[in-house]
Amino acid sequence: MRSQAVRIDRPGGPEELKIVEVEVGEPGPGEIRIRHHAVGLNFIDTYQRSGLYPFPMPLQLGMEAAGVVEAVGEGVTHLKAGDRAAYASQPPGAYSELRVMPAKNVCRLPDAIAFETGAAMMLKGMTVQYLLKKTLPAEGLQPGDFVLFHAAAGGVGLIACQWAKALGLKLIGTAGTDAKCQLALEHGAAHAINYSKENFAERVKEITGGQGVKVVYDSVGKDTFEGSLDCLRPFGLLAIFGNGSGPVPAFNLGLLASKGSLYVTRPTLFSHMATRERTQAMADDLFAVVESGAVKIPIAQRYRLADVQQAHRDLEARKTTGCTILTL
Ligand code: NDP
Repeated sequence: MRSQAVRIDRPGGPEELKIVEVEVGEPGPGEIRIRHHAVGLNFIDTYQRSGLYPFPMPLQLGMEAAGVVEAVGEGVTHLKAGDRAAYASQPPGAYSELRVMPAKNVCRLPDAIAFETGAAMMLKGMTVQYLLKKTLPAEGLQPGDFVLFHAAAGGVGLIACQWAKALGLKLIGTAGTDAKCQLALEHGAAHAINYSKENFAERVKEITGGQGVKVVYDSVGKDTFEGSLDCLRPFGLLAIFGNGSGPVPAFNLGLLASKGSLYVTRPTLFSHMATRERTQAMADDLFAVVESGAVKIPIAQRYRLADVQQAHRDLEARKTTGCTILTL
């Protein structure tokens, strides 16, 4: 069977993304073959393309998609041919019409959730699930707590705004334009700060009456790191989960002492998805908030698979909001 797929032969810019024809065979033990109906675009795809996250070459990109299972390999019991399914999964390879892949992280998609929604939400939505519910140790977050969420008008960000509101949290969102700030507010952020115009750490102190927030969720990285520490109350947690502006450079741990016994963590979704059971539990939690309407998956851009170079350019140029999907 033949499939169109997006491949890079070496790390580099969007121009390295090439449409190729690949042969897709039968699934082996623990694998499925899935025909995609829609594919999710994620910022992590740009790190894999650029080489920030190194992978052996050539590499077929893409970590998130939804479609129909065509065949299952030996030992796969949670899926069968004909099932609607969606996933966030390693190894990459979702930018394709058809693929064989490990079944472990693939979940059945409830009938009420459209393929495009499934493709847009699995990686981003399960990320928000673990960030809001599993990242802060000890007493966790309580309704009424302030949290700061950078890049709040992005794919992960707009899901976080809605989910945080549903949990009773007061999410302060940052974004790069006034229009993006407005979008974050419309999706449930309690406050929004345009961090390209305002000093966000000062604004957070004002909003919280000088107290600071319990957690900062920072996927921007290099440009926001120090300011993010200044937003925390004593014993607060900085969760750095991305590198939108570049990775955070090495820093002196004494900084955490001088700013009030702070904590820093660098979580990744795939450590939370270490077992099938944990993945399914996270997915079920996500399906529940989407089916209840508490979280609506905001698909703001659609590109054809053949236009994947433009999709990467727009994402990296901060031109997108919400989620982006590649159509087939
Ligand atoms: P987004 O849709 O949020 O796009 C990234 C956003 O980052 C931009 O829109 C932009 O928003 C902001 N940004 C700030 N500075 C820069 C810069 N210099 N260059 C480009 N963008 C910048 O992407 P995703 O929703 O796909 O992902 C959000 C983040 O979450 C990414 O950093 C991603 O790597 C991370 N992530 C981490 C996971 C994990 O488990 N660790 C899992 C999933 C995602 P603005 O213009 O408003 O500043």
